[in-house]
Amino acid sequence: MQTGIVFDIIKYAVHDGAGIRTTVFLKGCPLDCIWCHNPESKKLEPETTTRITRNKILKLSYSETKDVVGREVTVDEIINEVLKDRMFYEQSGGGVTFSGGEPLMQPKFLKSLLMRCKELDIHTAVDTSGYSSKEAFESIIPYTDLFLFDLKIMDEAEHKKYTGVSNKIILRNLTYLSESAKKIRIRIPLIPDITDTKSNLRQIAKFLSELKNISNVDLLPYNELSEGKNKKFSSKVKLENLKMQSDESLDKIKKTFEPLGVEITIRG
Ligand code: SF4
Repeated sequence: MQTGIVFDIIKYAVHDGAGIRTTVFLKGCPLDCIWCHNPESKKLEPETTTRITRNKILKLSYSETKDVVGREVTVDEIINEVLKDRMFYEQSGGGVTFSGGEPLMQPKFLKSLLMRCKELDIHTAVDTSGYSSKEAFESIIPYTDLFLFDLKIMDEAEHKKYTGVSNKIILRNLTYLSESAKKIRIRIPLIPDITDTKSNLRQIAKFLSELKNISNVDLLPYNELSEGKNKKFSSKVKLENLKMQSDESLDKIKKTFEPLGVEITIRG
């Protein structure tokens, strides 16, 4: 029986593809983005974290709670969970999204999950950083209806500096995917002064203009809450006190991508 490590399942998700969806988060990510909003996802294996909370009445005392993040599950367990909301997928045009971490860190498990969903006629989406082998992508393309593909930084040295890896594999995989007939929704995390610079966004727009099958560009404004999560899961805090982009700057960023002629969404 095929098993894998999952760290969360979110039901009734509306931002991970069309309609109402169940999003399954697979553990493990080869990147180390300094703004990571899911730092608990990075290690492949389950891990124990310590949560420290202040006693609400005796404000000087603190309590410690141990949380285990991630557990081994079978394909059947996940599919049974997913099937509970089938009615919602059918009524809304939704389905299942496999996210992470990087779901392609567990390629066999991911492929089995996707295959089972397609056997059950459930719409499938894969949310990926793009950092995986071409073979892993090849193995899941037939069972994936939609790719949610993150694009972060076009300059290779800058990409390495802020994510820990080169972007060469990512750009190669995106080009390869765009030759398949599958829809690709590009997601751009807008990190102040790192990914949201005029130069970087222009380079991304230029790169996308040469690709096929791009259906949408989703702009993801900076989420200040990730700084708190980073403190919990990282030994050092890497980003602090950055502010979400203003409506005015988001409008300007949106204009950079309008010449592509695809739907552009700003997600709050
Ligand atoms: S790709 Fe996503 S999950 Fe992986 S480190 Fe970057 S932000 Fe975190």
